[in-house]
Parts: sequence; C-alpha cells; structure tokens
Amino acid sequence: MSEQGGELEAVIGLEIHIQLATATKMFCSCALSFGDPPNTHTCPVCLGLPGSLPVANARAVHFGLMIGLALGSELAPRSIFHRKNYFYPDLPKGYQISQYDEPLCRGGHLGEVRIHRVHLEEDAAKLTHLGASGRIHGSDASIVDFNRGGTPLAEIVTEPDLRSAEQAGEWLKLLRTTMRRLGVSDVNMEEGSLRCDANISLRAAGSEQLGVKTELKNMNSFRFIERGIRAEIARQQKLIAGGGTVTQETLHFDPASGAITSLRSKEEAHD
Ligand SMILES: [Zn+2]
Repeated sequence: MSEQGGELEAVIGLEIHIQLATATKMFCSCALSFGDPPNTHTCPVCLGLPGSLPVANARAVHFGLMIGLALGSELAPRSIFHRKNYFYPDLPKGYQISQYDEPLCRGGHLGEVRIHRVHLEEDAAKLTHLGASGRIHGSDASIVDFNRGGTPLAEIVTEPDLRSAEQAGEWLKLLRTTMRRLGVSDVNMEEGSLRCDANISLRAAGSEQLGVKTELKNMNSFRFIERGIRAEIARQQKLIAGGGTVTQETLHFDPASGAITSLRSKEEAHD
C-alpha cells in the first residue's frame, strides 16, 4: 500500500464519560447507587415532575474544575447548563441537562493528546432490553431503572490526536489513572463509571485535512475499545480501497461477533 492510492492513516478522537464520585446526583439530593434495587433512588427532580427545580451539585462542579486543572485547561469564568431535548425511555424529563456553548473547561492536554473541552452533564437512566424472554402482551419488553438517571458525569472530549487503536487504549489507561489519583471518580469500567466513544476517520498519511468520521458508541472495556477501533479502521480501509466513501454515522461494535452496525443518524443532535 505505497504508490497509487497512497498510504492511509487513522485519525482518532475520544469522548469519555466519567461518573463523578459525589454522594448525590447532579441536580437533586438522591443518593448515587450501584446495584441497589431498581427505582429506589428517585425524586420529583430526577424524574422530571412538573414544578421541580434542579440545583447544581457543588461537589460535582468542584470535581469538574479539578479535572480541568489537572489537564491544564482554561477554566470558564462563567458556565451555563442547557437542556438537550430528545425523547427516549431512559430520559423521564424529555431532555438531558448538559453544557453546550459555555463548558466548564476548554483546552489543555494529557500526554501528547490535546483536550478540546470538559463539561458536566447528567446521566440517563438504565434500560434493560429483555428480548423474547421478557415478552409482555406478545412484545419484546424493556425495563427501566431510574436510579442512574441524574448521576453527575464529566464528559472529556479530546482533539483527534490519536493514530491507532493501541495508542487510544494506552492513552485511555493514562486518563483513568489520572482520574483515579484525583479521586473524582472510581473509573470502574465494569460498572459503567468510565465509558468511551471514539470518532474515527482515515486520511492520506501526512495530510492535514480530516476525512469523514464515524462515531463508535459506548464502549466499556479497554479490550473492546481497541478491538472496536481496529475493526472500524479496517472497515473504512476496505470501503475506500473498493472505491467507496465513508458516510458520517453512529456505529455500534458488538464484541461477541466483532460486527459493526449502524445505530442511527443524528436525530437528537441539534436542538
Ligand atoms: Zn432525585
């Protein structure tokens, strides 16, 4: 793969969600929990009942600022939360409270990877798809546990500075160690307190221009992240080698089968 087509290089950026180790949720006084009986940590605020008002968790903001300081980010003198509207059963309010144009922290770096931004938001509830085993009235059923809904998250977005699956895995381990040392999260991937999305594109080696990227969603183990990124790079290489073009889409990597499938077009993106 040297002359005609030229060599391709992968360009990878990561979006990492970290559950903050606060005592209570992002905007209410419900206790954080993992493994407690479903729907035992809810209140009018995190269930989005009419008339309830969110109040930001000071400790979560403090943790967000600690992350920004550790990454050498610029801390915002003033920061704002927005409603990100979308409809899904894991979101009782019909919107997620997140930060959009005025995030808590901008810029910085960890090792050789630049940080784009760090912002705070709340987690969605947990949906479990029972499939055929949980049929209700003849339909496949899903159940929802609102305990996780409203858990404080820090979202750390990198610049596209990574070039391989192995490098992404290594860097993510460095980030996990850094967050653990700061004491802002238990960064336990098995319990979902560290989750990672990867934006992946290919371009001619040495080029400055970015190719069309795809987004691999919600990978929650280092092994799956590296395997998923590797599989997506291979898929794009094959597509381009066959004369095709990459389309921007959100993808899911199935670690069991190794398959990559399209999730959805960005219906929830711009509101
Ligand atoms: Zn609550």
